[in-house]
Amino acid sequence: MTNPFLNLTYEPAVESLGNEFFDAVPAATFLEHKLRFRNDRLLPMVGLEPSQVRDDDFVEAFGLFHGVRPFLALRYHGYQFGEYNPNLGDGRGFLYGQVRGVNGELFDFGTKGSGQTPYSRGGDGRLTLKGGVREVLAAEALHRLGVNTSRCLSLVETGDALWRGDEPSPTRASVMIRFSRSHIRFGTFERLHYHHQPEQIRQLLDHVIQTYYPEISAPSPEGSAHIAFFQALVERVAKLVAQWMAAGFCHGVLNTDNMSITGESFDYGPYGFLPTYDLNFIAAYFDYGGRYRFGNQPAICRWNLERLQAALGSVIPSKAMTEVLEDYERIYLSHYITLMARRLGISPTLGDRLDLGLREKLVGQTLQCLAQSQWSYPDFFAQLRLNFSPSWQDKADLILENVNLLGADWSAWRSIYQQVLQQLSPESLATVPTVLEQANPLTDLLRPRIETIWQAIAEDDDWDPFHQLVHKLQTGQ
Ligand code: AMP
Ligand code: MG
Ligand code: MG
Repeated sequence: MTNPFLNLTYEPAVESLGNEFFDAVPAATFLEHKLRFRNDRLLPMVGLEPSQVRDDDFVEAFGLFHGVRPFLALRYHGYQFGEYNPNLGDGRGFLYGQVRGVNGELFDFGTKGSGQTPYSRGGDGRLTLKGGVREVLAAEALHRLGVNTSRCLSLVETGDALWRGDEPSPTRASVMIRFSRSHIRFGTFERLHYHHQPEQIRQLLDHVIQTYYPEISAPSPEGSAHIAFFQALVERVAKLVAQWMAAGFCHGVLNTDNMSITGESFDYGPYGFLPTYDLNFIAAYFDYGGRYRFGNQPAICRWNLERLQAALGSVIPSKAMTEVLEDYERIYLSHYITLMARRLGISPTLGDRLDLGLREKLVGQTLQCLAQSQWSYPDFFAQLRLNFSPSWQDKADLILENVNLLGADWSAWRSIYQQVLQQLSPESLATVPTVLEQANPLTDLLRPRIETIWQAIAEDDDWDPFHQLVHKLQTGQ
């Protein structure tokens, strides 16, 4: 029986761009291949039936592709913590294959932890098992929270021992297969700009538009597709940041090499979910200045878009891009308010007479109360979901009983919430419980939970808690 992964139809999309964009690399060899995670939810997206794919297929897929096609370490640069770094590129992963999904979209299989490349720069090219576990969890949690994110297809433990500077003893290693829309980053363009290659910028831009922005790839007057692309990207990025902010997610390392040109969230290292609402929450221990703190994400992503604007300046008129960027904050804010209202069960339909100013006031009061009371950010929304009922007035009181009232004006919150609910049509009001259920998972992915999962793996090689958690995150229980 052939491996179903080998039967997929691969498209040489990046490969066809030419050698300028990547280096062909071999994968490292590994002591062992223990499948620790397979994401069956992704298989139907590329036309595979989960019951037809054996565990061994996931494991073997990794080796089977040897000789079938080259693995591509993509070339890119990036601004890291505000400083331009030309010494980047895929240093511990490569593009493994690109496959057309059943919905017509092109998907990338990429590796992380698959060995050294010309861009490893002294790094070992490996991924710690804990790093792999953390990325699997982040992606599933974010997906359930409605964030446009890459996912993990599989995680294989390799049996190698890794030494990491911050650990006193060796740690376990893994290879992760990432399933994403694209590995082309802002930094891919920045590198071409740095090397003064306007023709390649234009080539890559046309490729990106054709592949990832089909809505604007229809024939258009010279140049208008390019600015339409920038406009669409700005909108996608603004919406992505709104999704992170509503989810209470701090990416941690928003360097321009970690910004996908498709507006998809990816590359989860030292991320953190908010324990309590705090704009100053910092996820990465090495982010000493708090550049990538939770509340700075909207501004940083705009800054990143401005760096991309500079890189695209030879192809797209800069003034037109500046005008487009002026809309960024407005798009971000309106999307953020909409998503936060959803977390409160409010998903307006046409029949409502909902005052948008009042809705915004409700979101503002919610955030103020959450900040002042320091109620757990995920738990607040979980409690709202669990306690809400059509007799919402009593239930709102019930929620208040659980609240640590420390300095927070929850009675003002309740009264605004009630006013908003009163403006909803009976149909919308009836959807509130469902909206709450969709928007608010019951299981958080805060650090202590991840640590508990990791302890079971590290101390007892017990993977059950991990798999149970993945299931809960995927289903929102
Ligand atoms: P990141 O901060 O994970 O986005 O990575 C930044 C850059 O460092 C990328 O070019 C990575 O490929 C590279 N890198 C990170 N960790 C390693 C490693 N262990 N070995 C080689 N390269 C790495
Ligand atoms: Mg990265
Ligand atoms: Mg990383």
